[in-house]
Amino acid sequence: MTHRDGERRAAAPPMPGRIVDASRLDLDAAERAAHELLRAIGADLDYPGLAETPRRIAASLAELLTPAEFTATLFRNERYDELILVRDISFQSLCMHHLLPFHGVAHVAYLPGDCIIGISKLARVVEAFARDLQLQERMTVQIADWLEQELSPRGVGVVLSAEHMCMTIRGIRKPGARTVTSAVRGKLRSDARTREEFFSLVERC
Ligand code: ZN
Repeated sequence: MTHRDGERRAAAPPMPGRIVDASRLDLDAAERAAHELLRAIGADLDYPGLAETPRRIAASLAELLTPAEFTATLFRNERYDELILVRDISFQSLCMHHLLPFHGVAHVAYLPGDCIIGISKLARVVEAFARDLQLQERMTVQIADWLEQELSPRGVGVVLSAEHMCMTIRGIRKPGARTVTSAVRGKLRSDARTREEFFSLVERC
């Protein structure tokens, strides 16, 4: 739909490549499975404080894996031809290998073509892709793909910096270690000046 001021709302933007289909979520089955998992790890299921834990586990997973619906508010670009960057978008996700959280910040930029997107929507895109069983690498690419498809921009840059609980509280146990991933497209990939500008803006955070 196009409004007089050039605003266009693209309802329910497609989110290809999701691992979890939230519409198939079965809370009762998840609760029963959480109960069995607690039993399998040797928990005393008669202990009073554990009575509601299976329900809470199911509800927590449902919350972490269900993306919030949002509409992509697009506007006609009025001659702005420099980078648009939103830095420090915090996110939390679940790693698909351990079901342990990873959390950090995303920096999302694009070089607009004919349209621009409401800046808060950049945070919503990050949030939507975070609520899945994820790999940081995949999430980075998905955000960049989404921006390319929805905005047809002249360039896209995405950097994610995150701490993964599966390597800070278990395994090699290196608290504070951060994993940084990036995806750059269009002019941000091919034009050295634009690429450098993007990474220098990100590094200043
Ligand atoms: Zn992991």
